[in-house]
Amino acid sequence: MNKHTAALPYNLRRSSRAKNTRIVVTADKIEVVAPLKVSERRIQAFVHAQKDWIEAALKRVVGRIQTAAPRLAPSEYRDGVHIPYQSHRLPLKITTTKAKTVRIELLNDEIFWVKLPTGIADEQHSPLIQQALTRWMKNQAKQHVQELVDLHAPRFALFPRSIRIKTQKSRWGSCGPKNDINMNWLLLLAPPAVLEYVVVHELCHIKHKNHSPAFWQLVAEHLPDFKQHRLWLKQYGASVMQGL
Ligand SMILES: [Zn+2]
Repeated sequence: MNKHTAALPYNLRRSSRAKNTRIVVTADKIEVVAPLKVSERRIQAFVHAQKDWIEAALKRVVGRIQTAAPRLAPSEYRDGVHIPYQSHRLPLKITTTKAKTVRIELLNDEIFWVKLPTGIADEQHSPLIQQALTRWMKNQAKQHVQELVDLHAPRFALFPRSIRIKTQKSRWGSCGPKNDINMNWLLLLAPPAVLEYVVVHELCHIKHKNHSPAFWQLVAEHLPDFKQHRLWLKQYGASVMQGL
């Protein structure tokens, strides 16, 4: 349910457990939690009286998100912008071609070379390049993840039943009950050692379906300095999650 004061739309939630009316501000909403008996008029008056506090709290949460997670990708994909890849920023070079589809090539690990079919409308360039880059990255992720699995799985016989590359906005990887591993291709924007850590993490879930000390011990057997990679994800993961 949405109630409105002059400036601040908020959701009202009635709670039998609430003793007082309180306001919870998150990045996407203002929620007012009120005991069952309090009248809506009193709630509105309460929210109105707290207006300055609410606005300050909103600024704080929104500001925190913006400053904590700058976008790595360019706002538009055109000649000369930089593309995040394995924690580097590589320049994008665009040429035209007679081929029918957009082709991406990574030249000497230094330049993303885009071959764009002639005759495509200008405003289509950026979205088409973004799509092609995403396809290219997913494909790369598949190869890199497979190589890392081949490297680490034999040591303690941690063989997944399947490996899938996914686009996920909230997790880096997962290991299902039947040992099917999902990996987020966005990890290709992070340092290679971080991708390796997540692969190892999911492989270790084949043996331990939890985060017990024994699980972390097994991770450390593969990667003694895994903690720094986990820390990297905590610090910069939100930016990587914003994707291309
Ligand atoms: Zn885990």
